[in-house]
Amino acid sequence: MVVANSGFPSRDEVASRLEELVDRLDRLSGGRTALLPVTKAFGAEAVRSVLAAGMTDVGENYAQELIGKHGELCGVPGNEDAPSLVRWHMIGGLQRNKVRRLVGIVSLWQTVDRPGLVDEMVRRATGSRILIQVNSAGTPGKGGCPPADVEGLMARAVDGGLEVAGLMTVGVMGDRDATDAAFRMVSRLADDLGLAERSMGMSDDIEVAVEHGSTMVRVGRALFGERPL
Ligand SMILES: *Cc1c(COP(=O)(O)O)cnc(C)c1O
Repeated sequence: MVVANSGFPSRDEVASRLEELVDRLDRLSGGRTALLPVTKAFGAEAVRSVLAAGMTDVGENYAQELIGKHGELCGVPGNEDAPSLVRWHMIGGLQRNKVRRLVGIVSLWQTVDRPGLVDEMVRRATGSRILIQVNSAGTPGKGGCPPADVEGLMARAVDGGLEVAGLMTVGVMGDRDATDAAFRMVSRLADDLGLAERSMGMSDDIEVAVEHGSTMVRVGRALFGERPL
């Protein structure tokens, strides 16, 4: 049998990287920071390897890809309604018209960032657990709402029956100081609003995120290697 070399690490390798990273996070944060493996651009095997290691939460960026993997893992391609063992986190930019298809699949919607999207979620995904994404570095064209809009967006979501669990943000690639300032600001904002969850930190800025009280780092490359193009 010819086995194509995908370059993807074995299940044992993934399990040991997961364990190492969880241990490191526990040491750094005193058990405060959880690990969210991010499987975007990797196949369903990446998700299976996370499940095999005893973890259940997985992050994906693209609605289509998330739905596809969900279907594959349910053993019935295309059957998005079948129950799954995975607790899916939507961590990528979310279009309004994708909400309907993700309802019942996604456990935590991390990228809610504008009134129109809140309204669509209130209409189609009542009671969902969400994070509000903050554009903490003020980078134009990036996802997330301006920090000044968070409180209003939160009120709108709560009024509509959504459960706002916390804030999510993305650091500034290659700029440690800017990332530090961004995570500090988001953590303060979460404190001010009485929000527990702070989804901050990726492969390259885990330590800075933990320093600022991240409750969840979203990690892809440090676990699975470089993403295929
Ligand atoms: C891709 C992505 C991640 C994971 O990034 P790595 O650098 O692979 O750890 C985390 N969060 C978001 C929003 C992403 O798009």
